[in-house]
Amino acid sequence: MNSSKVFICGAGPGDPGLISLKGYKLLSKCDVVLYDRLVSKKLVDKIPSTIKKIYVGRESGKATSTHQSRTNKLMLTYARKGKSVLRLKGGDPLVFGRGGEEAEYLRKHGIQFEIIPGISSAIAAPAYAGIPLTHRDYSSSVAFITGHENEMKNHLDVNLKALASAVDTIVVLMGVERIKEIVQGLRAGGMKGSTRVAIVEKGTMKDQRVILGNLDTILKKAVRYEVTSPAVIVVGRVVSLSEHLTWLSQNGKV
Ligand code: SAH
Repeated sequence: MNSSKVFICGAGPGDPGLISLKGYKLLSKCDVVLYDRLVSKKLVDKIPSTIKKIYVGRESGKATSTHQSRTNKLMLTYARKGKSVLRLKGGDPLVFGRGGEEAEYLRKHGIQFEIIPGISSAIAAPAYAGIPLTHRDYSSSVAFITGHENEMKNHLDVNLKALASAVDTIVVLMGVERIKEIVQGLRAGGMKGSTRVAIVEKGTMKDQRVILGNLDTILKKAVRYEVTSPAVIVVGRVVSLSEHLTWLSQNGKV
């Protein structure tokens, strides 16, 4: 392709069919693919063997900063060699995906880039669990929040107390490990214990699981069903619609 450009591209949330057509075409057109841990293996397998593919996901036990600087350097090195680089990230690159930081880095070094949005797990996991994030009768506002702001901080940056009374639906990414703190924060902000909560684990994937409960019960359920990452947590009245709108045949519903 030889265009000396980096495509910061979303791969979608897991189901390989959820990548954009633009992203899909690049899988077999670019010179190098740098991909993350949450990118569907089926998509990675679609990359022809003539194209260099490099895994740049985080290795457990190593700091995020180490793998981020390696990724940045790889983008720069290949772009400077005149290569087109597909920087493939899970979900959408700009939704808790550091795509903004990578774009800043490329701009600073004078490298051309394009941003190709992806379907974020923040909307896809609820959709595959039959949960509409907005609904004329139940929800006029949605907030996307992270449960894990920064490795260096050991507290949540999000003002849960304020959010509890300000928005109808809250979607938490990277929240599994902080679920206790999240529930406590929302309760402290005045949310009722009966407020509905869903955890969608491995959303849009073959082994997706949906755990339904409320603010009073969800902690126990998360432990009982051994919920693991990746999962999104959805809080709000819209969760109750899941019971009527489930459409994905799944054994994992609990
Ligand atoms: N940019 C990504 C989010 C990266 S942060 C996006 O737009 O989806 C990583 C977090 O995303 C995970 O901790 C989890 O909360 C969420 N996540 C990613 N893929 C997921 C999936 N298939 N199902 C549920 N949650 C997912």
